[in-house]
Amino acid sequence: PAAAFAIHRLSTSAAASPSHGTLPSRLRNLIGGEFLESQSEASIDVLNPATQEVVSRVPLTTNEEFKAAVNAAKSAFPKWRNAPVTARQRIMLKLQELIRRDMDKLAVNITTEQGKTLKDAQGDVFRGLEVVEHACGMATLQMGEFVSNVSTGIDTYSIREPLGVCAGICPFNFPAMIPLWMFPLAVTCGNTFILKPSEKDPGAAMMLAELALEAGLPDGVLNIVHGTNDVVNNICDDEDIKAISFVGSNTAGMHIYSRAAAKGKRVQSNMGAKNHAIIMPDASVDAALDALVAAGFGAAGQRCMALSTAVFVGGSKPWEDELIKRAQALKVNAGIEPGTDLGPVISRQAKDRICRLIQSGIESGARVLLDGRDIVVPGYVDGNFVGPTILADVTSHMECYKEEIFGPVLLLMQAESLQEAIHIVNSNKYGNGASVFTTSGVSARKFQNDIEAGQVGINVPIPVPLPFFSFTGSKASFAGDLNFYGKAGVQFYTQIKTVTQQWKDSPSQGVSLAMPTSQ
Ligand code: NAD
Repeated sequence: PAAAFAIHRLSTSAAASPSHGTLPSRLRNLIGGEFLESQSEASIDVLNPATQEVVSRVPLTTNEEFKAAVNAAKSAFPKWRNAPVTARQRIMLKLQELIRRDMDKLAVNITTEQGKTLKDAQGDVFRGLEVVEHACGMATLQMGEFVSNVSTGIDTYSIREPLGVCAGICPFNFPAMIPLWMFPLAVTCGNTFILKPSEKDPGAAMMLAELALEAGLPDGVLNIVHGTNDVVNNICDDEDIKAISFVGSNTAGMHIYSRAAAKGKRVQSNMGAKNHAIIMPDASVDAALDALVAAGFGAAGQRCMALSTAVFVGGSKPWEDELIKRAQALKVNAGIEPGTDLGPVISRQAKDRICRLIQSGIESGARVLLDGRDIVVPGYVDGNFVGPTILADVTSHMECYKEEIFGPVLLLMQAESLQEAIHIVNSNKYGNGASVFTTSGVSARKFQNDIEAGQVGINVPIPVPLPFFSFTGSKASFAGDLNFYGKAGVQFYTQIKTVTQQWKDSPSQGVSLAMPTSQ
């Protein structure tokens, strides 16, 4: 019965609380299909950012446990790579059904550990679910190419083969979507996988792993290890790991990119951002304002595609009153409460950092239109809340502009022309996303051509492509050359092999030592 199963599943990935019942449960590693308690003495507390309650504890996986996970993945690989692609797809078909079944449970876990609203948490799961749906078509995605008669009686064809053991290292801000960007495509290509969830909110990844096992993923195909820098460095250094998918900050991403590349691994590294919107004077007013408020403050600004900077061509003054009004109307509360628009930020340190960057903006001459630093949320006085904040007259040299704030802070800048606005955006080191709001096709087309960002929105505030395209951040927002999901994602998780075959019944032409050429 479903209830008995739910209890069983709860007890697999988290060790039971000790008999005195005071300590929250400690998560387990997943090694070779078994949820195993870590021998490590050290743990990190997972805190509910709205209350500071300890939700669970994450062990720092030991070196031996890490190696056991890699060995499990390595041993599972030969059989799994030879499983029919249709069998691998069917597990994804089942997984997408199970994720839908448990959508609400996953969302509650995300809201509890990460802080975002329940509706936004469902979006987090849903955007990952779409990658699982995409993986269900792997037979087509992984198809090779064939050219008949490249020379007389000779054909050439290419095959996309899995790499072996791959690994994924996740950030805190999308606890379900980002693990789902990684392991479903990797394993459906025939790889085995080591996942390292964010130590700040690993619960959703654990639930997804349980669902993957329930869907029929064989033991050892997906493994989970926990921790921070040490386990990440182990992943970078391990000779048996062939590829690493990383999403997170530039500091960690560039470290992982160079350390793993030095060991000959391929790495795709999605990193930080500063996403701009250019607002033309002819933009549709209500649509542009709604988009700025939603994309600036949604998820408390903790999205790598959040619109954190608005460049107003012709100046921001005519827009400011309405913008303030809409931002003030947003309800800041715990994500679990009905009607909440934005929840807390992930940690006390994150809040302190956001407040420090707001202060530095003010000290360097920005005009405060709305200040959310002192917000107190009744019933959640310990929560890491920052209310919507708007700074105007921001310039490119300010620290609040140069740094990714990753909080509910919208910066307003000005430009005299579209050309100047594009120049501002292109001078920024990041290149994740950029949008333009305009009713002019001419302006939109110029923007699309001239803007140096990997994901472009035209009257669309958060232009994150669906999985049949790829997530194409660029400049300092990405390192590597094969992006996440879509065609590039499949290329990332496969090695191309090109076969040339000759079957002809004509007699031998004799020995020739010259380089073969097509005839
Ligand atoms: P983070 O870099 O602090 O952590 C990400 C992962 O790296 C975690 O698993 C963490 O344990 C590990 N890590 C952190 N520091 C490390 C170090 N010095 N050495 C080795 N491993 C380390 O990132 P975060 O705070 O969890 O996530 C927020 C960041 O992620 C933001 O910069 C955001 O823009 C970025 N992000 C980017 C995308 C994208 O697709 N471009 C998507 C989501 C988040």
